[in-house]
Amino acid sequence: MRYISTRGQSPALPFCDILLGGLAPDGGLYLPETYPQVSPAELETWRGLSYADLAFAILSKYIDDIPPADLKALLDKTYTADVYCFARPGDDPADITPVRWLEKGRLALLELSNGPTLAFKDMAMQLLGNLFEYVLEQRGETLNILGATSGDTGSAAEYAMRGKHNVKVFMLSPYGKMSPFQRAQMYSLQDANILNIAITGMFDDAQDVVKAVSNDAEFKAKYKIGAVNSINWARVLAQIVYYFKGYFAATETNDQQVSFCVPSGNFGNICAGHIARQMGLPIAQLVLATNENDVLDEFFKTGVYRPRGAAETHVTSSPSMDISKASNFERFVFDLVGRDPAVVRELWHKVDKGGAFDLRGTPYFDQLPSFAFVSGKSTHADRLATIKAVYERYGVMIDTHTADGVKVAWEHPQPAGVPLVVLETALPVKFAETIREALGCEPERPAALAGIEALPQRVDVLAPDVAAIKAYIAARV
Ligand SMILES: *Cc1c(COP(=O)(O)O)cnc(C)c1O
Repeated sequence: MRYISTRGQSPALPFCDILLGGLAPDGGLYLPETYPQVSPAELETWRGLSYADLAFAILSKYIDDIPPADLKALLDKTYTADVYCFARPGDDPADITPVRWLEKGRLALLELSNGPTLAFKDMAMQLLGNLFEYVLEQRGETLNILGATSGDTGSAAEYAMRGKHNVKVFMLSPYGKMSPFQRAQMYSLQDANILNIAITGMFDDAQDVVKAVSNDAEFKAKYKIGAVNSINWARVLAQIVYYFKGYFAATETNDQQVSFCVPSGNFGNICAGHIARQMGLPIAQLVLATNENDVLDEFFKTGVYRPRGAAETHVTSSPSMDISKASNFERFVFDLVGRDPAVVRELWHKVDKGGAFDLRGTPYFDQLPSFAFVSGKSTHADRLATIKAVYERYGVMIDTHTADGVKVAWEHPQPAGVPLVVLETALPVKFAETIREALGCEPERPAALAGIEALPQRVDVLAPDVAAIKAYIAARV
């Protein structure tokens, strides 16, 4: 299996050669040359597999440059009940991503937040940590991951890379801007290869420093600077697995169809659902949910993709979806336009200049229904009402992002016999303030995380100064 760029002007490469990089050299995103197909007979044999075995069955169709026994060992080490240990009472921790019915046979949550940082990004990031360590070891290389975070992604990266050989993480976060719980999650890590830098500024200042350092090609090469952002193909790939697992858990036979509702920001999670469907998984609909930042809802309703600037991006109570330019969306559009890279180049020529594109009146727009996407959006008031209603009706506490999903799921009833599975992307304890506002009580917290705010913290406070950050890195790699 080789990987090609959505812009068509980069050489096709095997999996391990694209694993550590970001964008393709031509500015596009990597995708497999073709999507492997799953036959009905194969799907039948997959139904009873454990999470790790299912992951092996799927990933070995996409990765042919890691010996199967090694890939199997990496997956067995990643998808264990010890790593995904925050399963709730009544769940079987061995499921890794348990399905919790809210209405039996009709509406369910797919729990993706039982990993170390209590958000779905752990599902892929934990595998990425093991894959990075493996490939760096094979090649005798080292990597210094530099990133900026306002919470979720940075902590998922740190928990994935902690203690890994040949990898260091330099993670910038805005000083004093994260919740005490988020700070404790990141800064209490004592692993020598995890370096937390609190920037005296906002998230955007931290992000600007990361961009400036990464744009210095000489520094980047000399200090082997890399990233783990959401366009990384391996992250999308790892996420395909739980659509299959969720499908099997929500159905009894492979004659049935399932629909998935996905709280979306950068389009990474739902892109994996799209690929699962392209592989042949019987998905009826992919229901995309946004918050007030509705660039994707607008596209699926109108055919217009109009990324917004920072000034038009709302700060919401589902902050991990506060995204106005969906970095993985180009992957879907590549498929929508019949995998014609010239068309993608033309469309993103506009996007990269800060513009928009409009597919109405093109043949591509007529193709859109065949991809089975529908969409909706949610507001802060909707989140509060949904968290309350789900708690009162079903006795289940959900987080703000999952609430965006449930709200939009309710607006898209499915035919009898088609369960609608909402992806639970975080646990409520991460967003305590909104839970208090919605329910008037504290969110549930896994017992193992009681009092983490009191643990000793390891963090250096620096100004958002590019030269100072470079010196800090240079002194520590
Ligand atoms: C990242 C994230 C999302 C959005 O996922 P995308 O892959 O960016 O669409 C939703 N909810 C939570 C809790 C997240 O951390």
